[in-house]
Order: sequence, then C-alpha cells, then structure tokens
Amino acid sequence: MHYDVIVVGLGAMGAATLYQLAKRGVRVAGIDRYAPPHDQGSSHGDTRITRLAIGEGAAYVPLALNSHRIWRELEARSGEHLLEACGMLMISDSRVATRGHGAADFAGQTAALARQYGIPHELLDAAAIARRFPQFTGYGPHAAGYYEPGAGYVRPERCIAVQIALARQDGAALHLDTQVLSMTARAGGGVDVHTANGTLSAGHVISCAGMWSGKLLGEPFAGLLTVCRQRLYWFELDEPQRYAAGSPVFVRLDTGADADSSYGFPPLPGENAIKIATEDYSDNSDPDHIDRAIGAAEAEAMYRRYVAGRLAGVSSRLLKAKVCTYTITPDFNFIIDAHPGLPGVTVVSACSGHGFKHSAGVGEALAKRHCGEADAADLSAFAVPRHG
Ligand SMILES: Cc1cc2nc3c(=O)[nH]c(=O)nc-3n(C[C@H](O)[C@H](O)[C@H](O)COP(=O)(O)OP(=O)(O)OC[C@H]3O[C@@H](n4cnc5c(N)ncnc54)[C@H](O)[C@@H]3O)c2cc1C
Repeated sequence: MHYDVIVVGLGAMGAATLYQLAKRGVRVAGIDRYAPPHDQGSSHGDTRITRLAIGEGAAYVPLALNSHRIWRELEARSGEHLLEACGMLMISDSRVATRGHGAADFAGQTAALARQYGIPHELLDAAAIARRFPQFTGYGPHAAGYYEPGAGYVRPERCIAVQIALARQDGAALHLDTQVLSMTARAGGGVDVHTANGTLSAGHVISCAGMWSGKLLGEPFAGLLTVCRQRLYWFELDEPQRYAAGSPVFVRLDTGADADSSYGFPPLPGENAIKIATEDYSDNSDPDHIDRAIGAAEAEAMYRRYVAGRLAGVSSRLLKAKVCTYTITPDFNFIIDAHPGLPGVTVVSACSGHGFKHSAGVGEALAKRHCGEADAADLSAFAVPRHG
C-alpha cells in the first residue's frame, strides 16, 4: 500500500492534517494506535480554551485565526457544534509581569497582540471585573482583566471525530488500532512505515504522535519532549445561575511564591459542573505508564487552593476527574519541522499544552505546504534548530 502522504497519529494535529490533505485530493492514509477520539492521549476532557490574541507569541495568531474559520467551516459541513465563543476573561496582576507557557509577560503580550491584530478585547480593573463577572472572586485590588469576547472553547473529541469522518468521506484511508513501530527512509525517496499489522509506504510522512513522539522518533525529539501528567476536575455547581449563558472561560495567572495558574470552563449544556485545572510541569511521566487515577486528597487540595474563595457558588462535590498529558518543549513552543535524521518525515510535536486552539490551522498549513499553495501559514517559527 503506497500513499502520497501518511499521517501517523490522528489526534488534534493528525486529524486536522488528514482532513485538509484529503479535502485537496491527496492520496493520504491516517494511522492510529487507537480509534480516535479516545482518552489515552492529550485531546480528551470535553473542552479546550481557544483565544485569538496569543500570549505565547505572534507566530501563533494566524494559526488561531485560521482555526476559528476552519471550525466554522467544519460546523457547516458536519452540522456539529464545535466552537463556543463564550468569551474569555484572563485575570493577572497589574503590578508585575505574569508568566505563562514560557512567555515572560503573558498578559501584556496578549493585550499587545490584540491591539496589533485588531482583535476585539477590553481591559478591566479589579472593580470592573467584580461588576461584570461577580462569579470570580478572591483576587486583590491590583487585579488586571483582559476580556476577549471572540474567545471561548472548542470541543476536542467532536473536532477530531468530524475531521476524521470528513477525511474518510473525501477519500482518506484509515488504519485504526494499528501501532506504528518504526519508520525507515526508502532508497530512492519516500518512507516505509512499519506497523504491528505490516508495512505501508508513502512519499512523505507527517508524524503527529502526541506524547509518544519521543519514543517513536528518537533523537533529537526524545531529548526535547517531556510528558507531564495533568489533572482535570469537574466540581458541581450549587448556584448554576452564576455560570449561565455569557459566563466566559477563565484563566488566572497568579504571582505568589507558591502559586500557579489555573483555568476553567462554564458548564456544558445539560451539565451542572465547572471544569477547572492547573498546569503541572513537575509530574513527568512515561507515556506508557501514566497514572490515570486521581485520589481524594488531590481533589480536596485542588478545591481548597483553586476553587474555594475564588469561584462563587461552586461546591466541593467532585462529579468527574480525568488525567491528561502535556508534552512540552524546553521553551514551551511548538516543534513543527523536518526530522533531521529521517528524510521525508515532518514532525509535529504535541504542542506543549496549548496546541488544540491551533490544530485546525496547523493541519491546513501543512496540507497547503504539501500542495505548494502559496498562502500557507508560516510555520518557520517552530523549527528545531532554535533548541541549539
Ligand atoms: C489537560 C490539558 C488541557 C489542555 N488545554 C488546552 C487548552 O485549553 N487550549 C489549547 O489550545 N490546548 C490545550 N491543551 C493542549 C492540546 O490539547 C494539545 O496540544 C493537543 O491536543 C495535542 O494534540 P496531538 O495531536 O499532538 O496529540 P494527541 O491528540 O494525543 O494525538 C496523538 C495521537 O497519536 C497516536 N499515536 C501515538 N503514537 C502512535 C504510534 N506509534 N502509532 C500510531 N498512532 C500513534 C495516539 O493514539 C493519538 O491518537 C491541553 C492539553 C491537556 C492535556
């Protein structure tokens, strides 16, 4: 079986890439060790924040803008609701620069890029935050709010399912429940992809293996990528009216010595829970041995530190908890580049805990680049050599 392109891994990045290639008539196959969407990788848990002014850096803004356009196109094609533009409130501290995803002044950079790209937003002081969003509490008089009305959340499992289904409709071949064991360059060009079910070949491979990328691709990626266990919590609402329509997703960037950022989502239709999480870079895990259990002590600590006194009308009753994984690079940026030791293979990293909002745009950029379309979004900021 020979293809123009094989996409390895059909999570956020791979499903988007497969869809965009199939839509362009490329003879493409997608391979996944499971049958996505699934809850073993980095793209589960019902919701992902999306925002347009990207505090991680200017190179991401076109990808986020393109992703929003593509999700609306996918909604029109599939009839599924994928993007909820409920707005986003980011609370930081006006006295200091607050870090986020490797950016030294995440909130400041967000506001600067919003101005640069003409992205609608409002800057709020503590009194305005309290007036507009009384459900959020526990910040000091120096709190600074950035509110972006076009931000919100996407539904990751639905996005993946829709793109895979449409790709299949557009002619993509699927090899699910099929683990790729290794890849080798073919004499004369192209790549052999060795799976547990036999060998496939392609002119080009785009590897989107998420947290397994280091294991599959070897160096330099194995040394650059670190897998970090994350915990997602759904706490029941005592006062659901506080988080009814119009309640935004939220990000809190704290500054205290032992503090950490947290973020959360309003309830999904038909649910009565707030989903909330932190970002944990200390818990480095082997992708094949992730501890997926969340203990009562972890949930209690989460409630005490990040819910009590900060989110009005939320109870300590835990309705659901899930483990998911970030796969981060040393500078928290993406890696999207040719594999230096494996000709014909493009590597897309799992994108350091902030990739979902860009996934549709990344898939489009890769497909446009493959097809030689001149207006492909620029991915050069994500090249490997910056790591030295
Ligand atoms: C808790 C949490 C919260 C997050 N919040 C946000 C957010 O709010 N906003 C945001 O933008 N981003 C967020 N992210 C980041 C975002 O979800 C990830 O960057 C993105 O989902 C990664 O997608 P991926 O395609 O790289 O990986 P995955 O979706 O995990 O896909 C990888 C796929 O490769 C397959 N695979 C791996 N190895 C092989 C192999 N050898 N053979 C065959 N198949 C293989 C796997 O089965 C899997 O389906 C969050 C991540 C987590 C974990």
